[in-house]
Amino acid sequence: KLSISPLRKINKSINLYAQSKNKEIEALQKNAEFRKEFIADISHELKTPIFAAQGYIHTLLDGAVDDKSVRLKFLKRAAKSLNALDKLVQDLLTLNQMESGVVKFNFESFDLKEVILEVIEELEQKASKRKMHIRFSYEKDKTFRTFADKDKIFRVCQNLISNAIKYNNDGGEVQVNLKTHKNNITVEVKDNGKGIPPDDLKRIFERFYRVDKSRSREGGGTGLGLAIVKHILEGHKSKISVSSTLGKGSIFSFELPLEKLETSLPTLR
Ligand code: ADP
Repeated sequence: KLSISPLRKINKSINLYAQSKNKEIEALQKNAEFRKEFIADISHELKTPIFAAQGYIHTLLDGAVDDKSVRLKFLKRAAKSLNALDKLVQDLLTLNQMESGVVKFNFESFDLKEVILEVIEELEQKASKRKMHIRFSYEKDKTFRTFADKDKIFRVCQNLISNAIKYNNDGGEVQVNLKTHKNNITVEVKDNGKGIPPDDLKRIFERFYRVDKSRSREGGGTGLGLAIVKHILEGHKSKISVSSTLGKGSIFSFELPLEKLETSLPTLR
């Protein structure tokens, strides 16, 4: 015959077991919900460029093909939609790989200033089309050597600077600042564009979240850029910060470790 105390113990462990199982079920349900939402989001996002391309092609097939100027215009638009579709699929694959943790980070030593200069060179044309100039400021006699995944950090800078152009007003200003503080390098990307409303600010790093859908799509956006940026920086144990004032502009910034290679020479007396 069991005394009351071991029975209580058994009862307690059964309860604990049931609680942990309930938690597992909850987690599985959450995961299933997340997947369902993710698939719904993806399907919706894929449909937009597919429908657009289909529309132009069907109009051409329905007779517009005979008009030379319309033909060229519609073919260009269909091509633009297919490019957007391609970018979306690529970004989705990248994000999916990042979220499932299969992405490898290849750390190496490099000068962050050089990477930013490359990104600016690539984006200068896009900026000048909208009468913007990208200003880059850094202390001239310093190196900004860091130890990180160069290609992925290139992508982070590319994304932030291209957003600063995309969501800026024509003739606006894009300012990139590189600073060192103690053992860190800070990269700051500033624009004086339309800014982000406070309620949206918390959500812009979520996949497919955009403040203004049509503006994002018009500028070739997929709504995945900042989600990818966040994951890349997490892989570097860093994070992205943002502050924004509506109507005035935004500042995005992140930090990477400063690699100190210089060993100081012994001073001769
Ligand atoms: P997208 O492809 O739409 O640019 P992102 O993930 O890069 O996607 O950015 C998400 C959203 O955050 C954008 O759609 C835009 O509404 C907002 N956003 C990002 N950067 C800026 C910025 N510099 N100024 C204003 N809004 C911005």
